[in-house]
Amino acid sequence: MDNKKLAEILFPDIKTTPEEMEARFPERQLPEGAMVTRLGPSPTGFIHLGNLYGAFVDERLAHQSGGTFYLRIEDTDDKRFVEGAVDTVIDSLDFFGINFDEGAGKDGDKGDYGPYFQSERANIYKTYVKYLVEKGEAYPCFLTEEEITEIREGQEAEKLTPGIYGKFARCRDMSLEDIEKCLEEGKPYVIRLRSDGDPEDPKEIHVEDAIRGTLTMPENIQDVVILKGTGLPTYHFAHVVDDHLMRTTHVVRGEEWLSSLPTHFELFTKLGFDIPMYCHTAVLMKSENGNKRKLSKRKDPELRLDYYKETGYHPAAVREYLLTILNSNFEEWRAANPDAPIDDFDFTLGKMSTSGALFDLDKLNDVSKDTLVRIPAAELYTFLTGWAEQFRPEVMKDLEDEEYLLKILDLGRDGKKPRKDFVTAGQMIDFIGYFFDDLFRIEDAFPEEAADDAGAILSAYLETYDHQDDQETWFGKIREIAVQLGYAAKPKDYKKNPDDYKGHVGHVSTVIRIALTGRAQSPDIWEIQQILGEEKTKARILAVM
Ligand code: GLU
Repeated sequence: MDNKKLAEILFPDIKTTPEEMEARFPERQLPEGAMVTRLGPSPTGFIHLGNLYGAFVDERLAHQSGGTFYLRIEDTDDKRFVEGAVDTVIDSLDFFGINFDEGAGKDGDKGDYGPYFQSERANIYKTYVKYLVEKGEAYPCFLTEEEITEIREGQEAEKLTPGIYGKFARCRDMSLEDIEKCLEEGKPYVIRLRSDGDPEDPKEIHVEDAIRGTLTMPENIQDVVILKGTGLPTYHFAHVVDDHLMRTTHVVRGEEWLSSLPTHFELFTKLGFDIPMYCHTAVLMKSENGNKRKLSKRKDPELRLDYYKETGYHPAAVREYLLTILNSNFEEWRAANPDAPIDDFDFTLGKMSTSGALFDLDKLNDVSKDTLVRIPAAELYTFLTGWAEQFRPEVMKDLEDEEYLLKILDLGRDGKKPRKDFVTAGQMIDFIGYFFDDLFRIEDAFPEEAADDAGAILSAYLETYDHQDDQETWFGKIREIAVQLGYAAKPKDYKKNPDDYKGHVGHVSTVIRIALTGRAQSPDIWEIQQILGEEKTKARILAVM
């Protein structure tokens, strides 16, 4: 068979050579040890937590090492293209502080290794497909869908490995005349790799994975499709050509790609390319009723990245949490460096889990509490108003008074044991709602011990109320009211002799707390009153008397 002639017949327009490609996309000039990583989403417009998880690893590896992180759009499957998808990827990741140095961008491509849309790289792939055909390493295959189904059914019946390989690869050894005849008849075809794998006795291959160590697997035996009927490559081929030419050093991708690794290994080898360092990340799992399962698009809203934005998670909290699942030593580091910027943490692939990484919203909420307490009130103010503007515009009028809001946000956050009760922007607004008349509602019931005396407690409180009182004087007055009405001045007195009292001073102050905040739990009442101001404080008491 004259392979050169075949290649010419199949790709008459392709004049470029692999050597020219090498020259066009030379090795990057980067410092020793700098890593080049990429995110390769399909433009489906759906970007999920798994993408963020992987992107985070990419970003850290590149930026920690002084390398490059780029965005490549994997749009060889034209059915799935969604308008605006590129902006969605960029914006979604930008929200979490993940930015690309190079690649597809909102205003077009940036960088010397483009185009960064695979659909625009057809001739680059074809250059290599033509080269493989010339070498007899790839061939056109005219099998129809029906024939492939028939082959598969036969294999199933005989319990054989399914696929197009060995004797099932019926077009492997077609003569040039037969191929030309099919082409003349206009028969649709794809280009397949002529695999060297031995279907009878596959050899072992060894591939390095920075997370999993050396992987040992059976070699590829399949004559996989490398170029589809559309003239665009399959994922396998595009991955190998692009990651080589774009000089990717570390390929971070989900473990679902492990099974096609032997194919990629063979393609890299046949093309004479160095194999990049693979980093196959673990699948994100969720624990449900004691069982671990994969996060599901249908069942778990938290899989959508927009969920975090809409709910009002601070991006820093999500980053912080992702690092706790990504690197087993992160929490320890954070405990030792509570105030250090997160990027000071030395992220390492070796500390990544190889079995399912557990994603837990409760844990995220805890991490978020710790993260928000470290964010200064002024920054929280910007975050909160930014969020509300988009997701709860009706409360914006309440949030306009910056001075007032700053006091609220700072309440109880200084000192040795700061309050850690802010979780998300949405929850914060509900949480501080009582500072605003239109959001204020009585939510909790008066404590049983003091419910009957509520009116008496509040009127005595109002009578003796002096906004200028310091905290001690103020509490002294509450204690007096308590004693006058038959309550113990100290909880421990009540505990000792419960029959001697109706309750204790805590029950009395809870009545006041509920009148002022609507809730049985809140930060310090005196401090709340100082923020609310005299007029509002008195009005609230009066309203429930
Ligand atoms: N386009 C592939 C995906 O969306 C990318 C996988 C990879 O990173 O290699 O799953």
